[in-house]
Amino acid sequence: MDYKKLGFKAGLEIHQQLDSHKLFCNCPSVLRDDKPDLKIMRTLRAVPGEHGEIDVAAFYEQLKGKYFIYESYYDVNCEVELDEAPPYPINEDALKIGLTVAKMMHCETPDKVQVMRKTVVDGSNTSGFQRTVLIGKDGWIKVNKKKIGINFLILEEDAARRTAEDDHSVTYRLDRLGIPMLEVVTAPDMKTADEVKETAKVIGMLLRSTGKMRRGIGTIRQDVNISIKDHERVEMKGVQDLRVMHKYIEKEVKRQIETKGKEKPHVRNVKPDFSSKFLRPLPGAARMYPETDIPMVKPDLKGIKVVELIQEKTKRFEKLGLGKDLAPLVAGSERAELFEELVKKYKKIKPGFIAETLTGTLAELKRDYQIEGVSDSDLKKVFEYLNEGKIHKDIILSVLVDMAKDQFEIKKYEGLETEDLHEELMAVIKENKGAPFGALMGQAMAKLKGKASGEKVAKMLKELMEKGH
Ligand SMILES: [Zn+2]
Repeated sequence: MDYKKLGFKAGLEIHQQLDSHKLFCNCPSVLRDDKPDLKIMRTLRAVPGEHGEIDVAAFYEQLKGKYFIYESYYDVNCEVELDEAPPYPINEDALKIGLTVAKMMHCETPDKVQVMRKTVVDGSNTSGFQRTVLIGKDGWIKVNKKKIGINFLILEEDAARRTAEDDHSVTYRLDRLGIPMLEVVTAPDMKTADEVKETAKVIGMLLRSTGKMRRGIGTIRQDVNISIKDHERVEMKGVQDLRVMHKYIEKEVKRQIETKGKEKPHVRNVKPDFSSKFLRPLPGAARMYPETDIPMVKPDLKGIKVVELIQEKTKRFEKLGLGKDLAPLVAGSERAELFEELVKKYKKIKPGFIAETLTGTLAELKRDYQIEGVSDSDLKKVFEYLNEGKIHKDIILSVLVDMAKDQFEIKKYEGLETEDLHEELMAVIKENKGAPFGALMGQAMAKLKGKASGEKVAKMLKELMEKGH
């Protein structure tokens, strides 16, 4: 595809949820799948904006004439999400994260932070508007040596999530409403599909580098704005998988070329087969009003420090001896900081082994033992024992399993004296008369449960067998 000839231009809008409590109340940012405690029915009606006309998107939604059902939970929602109580002042933690990103993206930041209301008429906000704050503008990031402009950086509340819809109603769950979210709006500086992908990657990496982003499905959402010469702008909503982003873009460009007649600017929803479907006309410039319920805040801009990019961290970790796959994995993980702490503290342990434990071993625990969320303090304890030679590195998995089950006793793990090991192995040989080395080894390791390293057991077992036992 000759993007240059087509006059292709693309920009990105990336929405990323922050790992903090809600933006305008103290409720936790938790999504729930169990039965809601409360269901409330409401209707919303689009009203003329300040220019006396109904926004085109608002009009479109109103045509559908549906009512809305809101589902909520007593323990993770409060009256703010239900729009029954005024919002709290802005979540300062979220504001700080946002301003950190603004600084990392070389944005101009405001001296005063003013929360604004943006009209929303699809029912996904109980108040009928979304609260949004401009925290950066006119910045840039580097993508493969090219500068990509960052037009806006916005801190806003996420909308409620749609859980059901029929001919008369739309059901929304309020657990997601109010989760703090950063919106990164780039300039239309990308000139090929590959550039779009690379830019999305760099933005994702930069955001994750703060260590303050929510992880998992649905926590990051990407829209791509595309235009080619003599065609109107089209926004592709929900292009999530970076690996196939170019396929969506190529297909959309082809669709535009083949479309007969003039199209209006509009929004399209993408589908798994890389095609897309008309969703709604592109909304006009959003109507914004100051949120008078929330006081203006003067952020402490001097206290905002940029953080090291995962990219840079990866390079440092490679120098510690971590391989090309392991280094970025650890650098991008939630345990990157712990890794550095452990490397610094326990000089006798190879950084590579620490890294393997924090990634591979923890993954193994999750997969084979359904053990998740091993605490940092348990991990620190394990490496301390290891560093002091109290346990052997071969048994780190069983130690962690025991710790998770609260059955850990260091006594159980301290290495066997050679004499005792000899005795144990003689017993194994006797119980399994005539068995080959492999079988005996398996029996011995199972019986010893890590009280001696595999290496040591194998060596002694071989010796005993050679002696004719
Ligand atoms: Zn709340």
